[in-house]
Amino acid sequence: MFDALTDRLGGIFDGLTGRGALSEKDVSAALREIRVALLEADVALPVVKDFIAKVKERAVGEEVIRSVKPGQQVIKIVHDGLVDLLGGEDAETRLRVDNPPSVIMMAGLQGSGKTTTTAKIAKRLSERDKKKVLLASLDVRRPAAMEQLAVLADQLGANVTSLPIVQGQMPAEIARRALQAAKLGGHDVVFLDTAGRTSIDEQMMAEAAEIAKIAQPKESLLVADALTGQDAVETARRFHERLPLTGLVLTRMDGDGRGGAALSMRAVTGLPIKFLGTGEKLDGLDAFDAKRVAGRILG
Ligand code: GDP
Repeated sequence: MFDALTDRLGGIFDGLTGRGALSEKDVSAALREIRVALLEADVALPVVKDFIAKVKERAVGEEVIRSVKPGQQVIKIVHDGLVDLLGGEDAETRLRVDNPPSVIMMAGLQGSGKTTTTAKIAKRLSERDKKKVLLASLDVRRPAAMEQLAVLADQLGANVTSLPIVQGQMPAEIARRALQAAKLGGHDVVFLDTAGRTSIDEQMMAEAAEIAKIAQPKESLLVADALTGQDAVETARRFHERLPLTGLVLTRMDGDGRGGAALSMRAVTGLPIKFLGTGEKLDGLDAFDAKRVAGRILG
């Protein structure tokens, strides 16, 4: 995660802390380098511009330049700027699942890791929060995807079950059946795993919007593949135009050495990142913590 960016920033910061006094020019030069490092990490240009402007405003003041350890001060300002960029310390990362049956709708492109992420979050809710969870796949065009969710549910113990597959039902009918089954079965949380497509199309959006209307999800999470960089950000932006999303999950963070999607997501979409996918296994899920991620980026 963020390896390339961490290396680059480390080099820039060494240059700042390696000497005692700093002039305004030194700080501006370092900020120019940070700007390039962020762009190379594939952070969206408007996000980089805004970030650098905010950091600059705080970092080139007399107070910093004249302080005993100006280099350290600049690093602290960059750190705080990253925490803000990632949604702040109090980012709303907790899932709202207190009103049983609480519906969590999962959306995203095919291959983004949506089904795996559904199982990962279900595992977490069942094991840590002792919730009884029902998983329902609405991906009627891909029987293999429906089967995959059922197989994953079987791996997750008695507290997680999948809605039996009934051939020939439409997604909206399955959503209604899932809600009914959850009420009767005393489930705390129902996941609706919506259809994934290879690209965003009108039909997909209309279908997902209809399901959101019927099921009134407490959480609607968009799953996006961090490895696709700015495409992931654009996907999230477009989904959010049509669906009442409440948060984001970025998958394949374990393979993403750049981190541009993670750093751009919040600023571009205004949505909190709730989880990071960190591996193929079902425990490869981190609750998102802006401070921890910022700390990791700075090494
Ligand atoms: P879907 O089509 O969006 O439902 O995608 P899947 O859940 O089937 O995932 C596609 C592939 O990505 C599978 O091989 C998953 O094991 C893998 N995958 C999902 N999340 C992660 C992750 O966070 N890290 C890694 N390395 N692989 C992941």
